[in-house]
Amino acid sequence: MNPKIWLSSPHMSGNEQKFINEAFNSNWIAPLGPNVSGFEEDISQYLNEGTYVAALSSGTAAIHLALIILNVSRDDIVLCQSKTFSASANPIVYQGAKPVFIDSEKETWNLCPIQLEIAIKDSITKGKMPKAIIAVHLYGMPYKVDEIHTIASTYNIPIIEDSAEAFGSSYKNKKCGTFGDISILSFNGNKIITTSGGGALVTSKKKIKDKAVFLATQARDKSVAYLHSHIGYNYRMSNVIAGIGRGQMTVLDKHVKLRRKNYRFYEETLGNLDSVELLNEPQDYFSNRWLSCMLLDSNKTREALRLEFDKENIETRPLWKPMHQQPIFSDCKAYINGVSDNLFERGLCLPSGSNLTNPELDRIYGVLKSFFALS
Ligand SMILES: *Cc1c(COP(=O)(O)O)cnc(C)c1O
Repeated sequence: MNPKIWLSSPHMSGNEQKFINEAFNSNWIAPLGPNVSGFEEDISQYLNEGTYVAALSSGTAAIHLALIILNVSRDDIVLCQSKTFSASANPIVYQGAKPVFIDSEKETWNLCPIQLEIAIKDSITKGKMPKAIIAVHLYGMPYKVDEIHTIASTYNIPIIEDSAEAFGSSYKNKKCGTFGDISILSFNGNKIITTSGGGALVTSKKKIKDKAVFLATQARDKSVAYLHSHIGYNYRMSNVIAGIGRGQMTVLDKHVKLRRKNYRFYEETLGNLDSVELLNEPQDYFSNRWLSCMLLDSNKTREALRLEFDKENIETRPLWKPMHQQPIFSDCKAYINGVSDNLFERGLCLPSGSNLTNPELDRIYGVLKSFFALS
């Protein structure tokens, strides 16, 4: 059996070990230290918009803290993109608030402005202004930033920008991770850069960063004695892990280039087939192509192709199952137009790692060639 080809596997630069060794040599084996502040500084410089960054234990923790900072509490309504990974929505429930799911549009597969506005108006009619909107740049493709943010500001609802999959992407030359009232990043093992596990909260306001760090370090009030006037969390990133992050930041742009190259390979292989659709980049959009995805003509064909890849020990996955289809969220209200259901039926994520080798791409090509009878 050929070795497994993964959808998206960690890809180290070689610089990580140096920063980790520094942590050991200086005995900063703690959830604070020079790698944590260095990693935050690197991210802030990369995003380049006067951003403040709090490095945390995960992207999920960052979303949770964002909701707390926006005062989301029991029975509040939070509007959330339905087509996403469950981590976008779970923290809403941690707060005892109610997720309301919004379907996607076809161009970017992200939040549909029409459904979003219907949901907001409906909620207001029922006497409840939504407390926040969680907007996701799925698979690295930016959502319709101008349209979504115009709606949000019309109704004065803050946006949590879930940029977990879109570090390195941009919209109108502005980096994803800088659009939200609060934005989040993830460095989980499968993301475009990884710290094995980790995340960050990004904000343009120092006050919000300080609040996030305060909450993430057990909410200790300024006092020699342990004094608490707020419930705290243990969500800070460790200084050892942040060393991996500093090494990974040296290759983020390289990873973007390599993932975009993978997409071009799929485009060249599949772009002319009538039975296949890819996710084009509209003008002004720049995707990091975290995952390359394709749509087939039916669920049956999608499954057939997935099983062909599986036979060759190549991992592919259906696109995220929408939250409004999840058993755990079956009681939640949802505004649905059929787009995300259709994407889930027909969509397949293809191997997309920045470390895919030419022989691996040849194996992938072999499966596509025989499945589609390419000449
Ligand atoms: C990975 C991911 C998260 C969660 O990040 P973790 O660091 O794994 O907690 C949130 N939202 C989306 C869209 C993701 O893909």
